Amino acid sequence: MSVQFPFSAIVGQDEMKLAILIAAVDPSVGGVLVFGDRGTGKSTAVRALAAMLPKMRAVIGCRYHCDPEASGSACEDCKALKLAGTAVKSHLIPVPVVDLPLGATEDRVVGALDLERALSQGVKAYEPGLLARANRGFLYIDEVNLLEDHLVDLLIDVAASGENVVEREGLSVRHPARFVLVGSGNPEEGELRPQLLDRFGLSVEVKTPTDLPSRIEVVRRRDQFERDPAGFTEKWKKEDERVRRSIVKGKSHISEVAVPDAALERAAQLCMALGTDGLRGELTLIRAARALAALQGAAAVTDEHLKRVAPPALRHRLRRNPLDDAGSTVRVDRAVAELFGA
Ligand SMILES: [Zn+2]
Repeated sequence: MSVQFPFSAIVGQDEMKLAILIAAVDPSVGGVLVFGDRGTGKSTAVRALAAMLPKMRAVIGCRYHCDPEASGSACEDCKALKLAGTAVKSHLIPVPVVDLPLGATEDRVVGALDLERALSQGVKAYEPGLLARANRGFLYIDEVNLLEDHLVDLLIDVAASGENVVEREGLSVRHPARFVLVGSGNPEEGELRPQLLDRFGLSVEVKTPTDLPSRIEVVRRRDQFERDPAGFTEKWKKEDERVRRSIVKGKSHISEVAVPDAALERAAQLCMALGTDGLRGELTLIRAARALAALQGAAAVTDEHLKRVAPPALRHRLRRNPLDDAGSTVRVDRAVAELFGA
């Protein structure tokens, strides 16, 4: 595997990094939608984060790289082995990051009948797709707004349920597909339907830095990395290690983070002030705030956590207001300032 640009060395992009960290700690926040210009390192952050995560233990030979310890989320084959009392062998593998290429067919995504085996052996075998490969990792979609709506729908459904169900061509297969969905979009390439937009948990906007020092720093670090990947990575090892520890601790600590009534009330007030549809906004806001609290090792969700995650959790859920043509980020910031005080 080639050396990955260190997560901590990414200049700026704080909100994107935070959103991916939150999704890594609690995948139930839903996917992350990253909007921004080409060349802003949207996929770099995802790859860097996955590379930084501890390797995961997986059953050898399992096509979904099931966790040998977690029987609940195991595939049928692994469950059968366990029932039969067969000792399974496992190994450590990196957390997968699977790219969903533009123009990928549904077959390629969900898996399909293995035609070769069907023809040569007359066996109805299932050939797993990209969702199988993404299990327990990340699924990255470049230019999600160019993907067919039904495919986006399907991906969001699977990401939410953690299971891929294939019922066609005489096949009936279900297998675990728990992954963090990260979709990137270029605003110039057309819009996502609002119904799809608000099914993503978090949305962030990334921009090429416009201030001189940041731009210089981006180029300097990239240059250093490309000249000496090993040396550069070594330099950032400590910082990456700190982030890795916060993720691991956050994951184990999140169930103990308290969500006081006051935080629920704040979240509801904020969503009411912004007129977001349904309860999804509030739920995501609370979950994201709790994941952030867990990352920080805090005991309970506070106003500070809510304030920080409000823009990524809510900005893509605002209805167009004909009387207010301010951008959605500005509207969220304004509502936060009014409710929480500046
Ligand atoms: Zn398995």
